[in-house]
Amino acid sequence: MSGGANPTDPGAAGQVLAGGANPPISFSNEYRDSWCGLARPDRVGERMRVAGWVHRRRDHGGLIFIDLRDREGVLQLVFHPDQAPEAHAAAHRLRSEDVVSAVGTLVAREEGTVNPEMATGAVELEVESFDLLADAETPPFQVDDDDRVSEELRLRHRYLDLRRRSMAEAIRLRHAVVAEIRRTLEAQGFLDIETPILTRSTPEGARDHLVPSRVQPGSFFALPQSPQLFKQLLMVAGFERYYQIARCFRDEDTRADRQPEFTQLDVEMSFVVEEDVIAVVDALMPRLLALGGIEVATPIERIGYDDALLRYGTDRPDRRIPIEIADLGEVFAASEFKVFSGALAGGGTIRGFSAAGEFPRRRFDELTEQAQALGAKGLVWGVVEEDGSWRSPVAKFLTEDEIGGLISATGARAGDAILAVADDPAVAARVLGELRLAVGVPEDRHDLVWVVDFPMFGWNEDESRWDALHHPFTAPSGDLDGDPGSWRSRAYDLVWNGTEIGGGSIRISSPDVQQRVFDALGLGPDEARERFGFLLDALAYGAPPHGGIAFGIDRIVAILGGRDSIRDVIAFPKTASGLDPLTGAPAPVDEVQLRELGIQVRPGVAPAG
Ligand code: ASP
Repeated sequence: MSGGANPTDPGAAGQVLAGGANPPISFSNEYRDSWCGLARPDRVGERMRVAGWVHRRRDHGGLIFIDLRDREGVLQLVFHPDQAPEAHAAAHRLRSEDVVSAVGTLVAREEGTVNPEMATGAVELEVESFDLLADAETPPFQVDDDDRVSEELRLRHRYLDLRRRSMAEAIRLRHAVVAEIRRTLEAQGFLDIETPILTRSTPEGARDHLVPSRVQPGSFFALPQSPQLFKQLLMVAGFERYYQIARCFRDEDTRADRQPEFTQLDVEMSFVVEEDVIAVVDALMPRLLALGGIEVATPIERIGYDDALLRYGTDRPDRRIPIEIADLGEVFAASEFKVFSGALAGGGTIRGFSAAGEFPRRRFDELTEQAQALGAKGLVWGVVEEDGSWRSPVAKFLTEDEIGGLISATGARAGDAILAVADDPAVAARVLGELRLAVGVPEDRHDLVWVVDFPMFGWNEDESRWDALHHPFTAPSGDLDGDPGSWRSRAYDLVWNGTEIGGGSIRISSPDVQQRVFDALGLGPDEARERFGFLLDALAYGAPPHGGIAFGIDRIVAILGGRDSIRDVIAFPKTASGLDPLTGAPAPVDEVQLRELGIQVRPGVAPAG
């Protein structure tokens, strides 16, 4: 143990990695009494012991320099051949990623050798002696943010990948987010309660991950798609305010930025209405976004589902794009242009928007192709001229008044393009929503918005039935004797920069209403009882009005840390195709294990698409 050095002073934390919710700890033992990354000129002259990984070694005419890296950063160690001949000789053998504990004196770097890029760039440690604690093989890639490596290799050696500064920062940011959630919710009386991982399927709309039961061959547990039903049962049980950082499992088809397991902040409250849940989130979000240096104005604005669909073509509006879709039904109400009159006569809509930018003919052709691929019959397009006319292949079919109305309804200015679609409302919304994203440039700011007042159900064309837009436990509102298509729900989603980061609802708290929703979904009393009897029973034993919400933590941290992929904010993620190159999972199991489970694998069975 080296004497004399002060343990790192947590209050004097100069360089704490992003998301430094936890200040550097004071820690002193035989391996270290100081953090490499926190050495600063105010400690020059002190003897200190540091420990970490060899980041880089440079031999410079007699002197050897080692950049030693620990959790807090990098410190340059110097080995002098005259002052510490033994250490100097041994340092020749040090290689990248060897693990070392070194003791020496912190000195100011000579003028001209100060590195302003490094937090510790004004100092260096003159090493007296060091212990080599572990040898490292040559790593398959450099532990350096600049080294471009395939993701497969990074994931296979994730422990090395996580040594890189940017990866370590992302994981610490994630910690800071979770810590802030816990602090905030605990101060408001929320209890952290765990719910089972081995459970029964819950219908959140995805395929379940199944776990075969050994004790009941032929029966399966399902991993929870979310703790939805358990958190409702906790409300029936009287806990009033629950939260959990919960792992959820959904066996969805491979999509670039989905993970088969992901983490939610799951929240539920009793004796509440929408406003109460929204208020908790409005108080929490600014604190989380502040961890990424982002300011949020509260209360967070709200937009109705219908309005969002009309103006942005989606229920996940990215309002940073300064383009709004306009309804053009009135402008073209009496139009003789067949495309428009036909659409209106068939119960369709005409909608469009204007956009600034460069629009050569080729661009319009591409956009038309995109619109058709999204299901539109076609795309009407053109450019507004200086004289207020409209240069478009369809202009000749329109009256001057109609063109004037089109330009004013879309707010177009000279030089802007106008794109319009005449189609079924859902198709028009979807197509224009996507085209808006394709041609719009987001403003450099953040946008949070609540989407509220959802329909309860959406029509499932393929299976000719209603699907719950959120889930079947969401409380409906409106006239329940009317057509299910007209029911609204007491649901709310939070959208950040066009990404849905959370969603929830006030729940059904009466068994009768729950059964009516099941009925509308085509789940008769017998099947409902078979699958959700425990919920119907619980609701019959005195369920308080309750509601809640869940947030995707991976997604929130990714946006906060400016990462493109949620894989970058998960310590041990799966690849985009759902595999784990680190452990090799999923993997075949022993014949004995299969036999115990009563399972026979049929070779060559292709996965369902
Ligand atoms: N359980 C829902 C989900 O995971 C969220 C909620 O309604 O609280 O999407």
